[in-house]
Amino acid sequence: MHGARRRYSSGLRRTFLVWLVGLVLCVSAGSVFFSSCSYGADHKRVIILHSFGREFRPWNEYARAIRAELDRQSPFVLDTQEHSLITARSTDPRAEVAFVEYLRTLYLDNPPDLIVVIGAPAAIFIQRYRAQLFPAAPMLITAVEQRRVQFASLTENDTVVAARHDFRYLFESFLRIAPRTRVVAMINGNSPNELYWQSEMRRELKPLEDRVEIRWYDKLSFEDILKQTAALPPNAAIFWFQMIVDGAGVAHEGDTALRRLYASARAPIFTTDEAFFGREIIGGPMHSPAALARTAGDVARRILAGEKAGTIKTASSDFAPPKYDWRELRRWNVDEALLPSDATVEFRTPSMLDTYRWQILLVCAVVLIQAALISRLLHEQRRRRLAEVQARQRMSELAHVNRYSMAGELTASIAHELNQPLAAIHTNAESMELMLGSVAPDIAEIRQITADIRRDDERASEVIQRLRSLLKKAPFEIRDIDLNAVVGETIEFLAGLMVARNVELRSSIVDEPLPIRGDRIQLQQVILNLIVNAMDAMADLPSADRKIAIATSRIGGSAEVSISDCGPGIPEERRANIFTPFYSTKPDGMGLGLSIARTIIDAHEGQIIAENAVGGGAVFRVRLPLFRPRERRTDR
Ligand code: ADP
Repeated sequence: MHGARRRYSSGLRRTFLVWLVGLVLCVSAGSVFFSSCSYGADHKRVIILHSFGREFRPWNEYARAIRAELDRQSPFVLDTQEHSLITARSTDPRAEVAFVEYLRTLYLDNPPDLIVVIGAPAAIFIQRYRAQLFPAAPMLITAVEQRRVQFASLTENDTVVAARHDFRYLFESFLRIAPRTRVVAMINGNSPNELYWQSEMRRELKPLEDRVEIRWYDKLSFEDILKQTAALPPNAAIFWFQMIVDGAGVAHEGDTALRRLYASARAPIFTTDEAFFGREIIGGPMHSPAALARTAGDVARRILAGEKAGTIKTASSDFAPPKYDWRELRRWNVDEALLPSDATVEFRTPSMLDTYRWQILLVCAVVLIQAALISRLLHEQRRRRLAEVQARQRMSELAHVNRYSMAGELTASIAHELNQPLAAIHTNAESMELMLGSVAPDIAEIRQITADIRRDDERASEVIQRLRSLLKKAPFEIRDIDLNAVVGETIEFLAGLMVARNVELRSSIVDEPLPIRGDRIQLQQVILNLIVNAMDAMADLPSADRKIAIATSRIGGSAEVSISDCGPGIPEERRANIFTPFYSTKPDGMGLGLSIARTIIDAHEGQIIAENAVGGGAVFRVRLPLFRPRERRTDR
């Protein structure tokens, strides 16, 4: 127990001593040490040095991607400060001296944990002033072409994540998709960096000079370059490298310059860097800021974690697999079959079919189903119409046969009707003969007799005409008719038969027209049938009891004709059968009259009803729809 207390107190003493020594060291190390002590071990200070300015494409894209990668990969909290080497645009060394002094003073007491250098001019600058600026701070040079790095003057604190341009491969890749190209306009400025690249490109592209004419504009202002590119011949292309400072000494921001070039130029534009890809560039193999940033981010993380920068070696990255802009491929009629097999095509505008595929398919399916249903319906309707026409034709034929069979019945009536005018003609003819035999014939009287003969002749021919029309084989024909008139004509027709059969007919015709639409002959036939049936039903009665009442009336929207007799009526058990074809209780009956009558009335959208009257006898009612003026108008 005591021993334990002793061990505890000596441990406490040792901890206190370490803490005290630390504190003394910290205080005595002066302000620099004090400040890094206060910064905290999980915080790191990073400087990003730009070559041309923070918004100069493509470097801004690289810087953005690298910052994002740093933030993503670094386990430390980063305090990132950015500076731009404006002097890259000029060759004046005095400006650089002032800039170096500024940076040196700024970071004298707070040296950075890492310097990230974006682009070649910044790399050259840092390498030149390394000893004055940050002799001990680790440095990562990136977003730079390997040729722009002086590897020999790198210190053990420096590392490089570089890219490698292969202009010949780039141009050959473009010529593969646009084989008819004869002229390539080179867009590259006049700054020291750009002039360096011009000589590199001239050297690398020399073997292609017999295939294409390469035009250089380094001495021209950008405005003049735009005029030149607007007037390029057909089968020309534009290679966009950069336009930092033009031949007239004017600095340009890459994005704006490219946009202006695109607006005026009449040729496809290709380039080295994906940072420009997205509207103006047709595409091809290009450097990928994202891919380079991933490597740079990884290297930066390792340096911040304590690895010696000089020991980290990475291979220079080549162009990424080719990428093309679908809109530009279409604009310049590039056949997609000519694209390399590993190429990707972006910005493909989906067609209506792509965007609304299932909706369109659904609509098509619905339309097709609808079309099928409609055609089926039309087919059915056609078949129904045909069937209706055929049924009407059959009915007309049957009705015709029925009328013929009735003709025998009507013989007595017709003979009676014809007899009267013929007898009158005969008598008048005899009288005329007598008058003509006299000494002084009365001409006026003879004229009167001749007129009588003509009138009787007309009456006789009317009778024949009526019979003819009844027996005519005519198709079903709907017309505007008056039911009262049809009933009146039928009664006239049967007058003779009534006399012959000793039947008294009382008619009561309503005092207003009953307009209907129908076939006059067929409706006559129905009424004729009903009257003849009524006569048949009373055949066994004494002559004095044979009475038929025929009446017309308007009932609601219908016109009605009723035929009542004084016969035995229709026994209840027969009521259901009398309208079926070939049902007859008469020894010589065909059983067709009522079934045809019902078919005719059905075709007129009417009704035929058989009842027994309260005082005895049968009553047959035929109801047909009345036609109102409005319906007539539409009908016309
Ligand atoms: P048919 O006159 O050739 O018998 P119909 O179809 O005209 O054929 O008549 C069918 C049957 O209906 C008749 O046989 C008869 O039994 C009955 N019938 C028709 N009209 C009357 C009526 N007014 N009174 C009694 N029975 C009738």
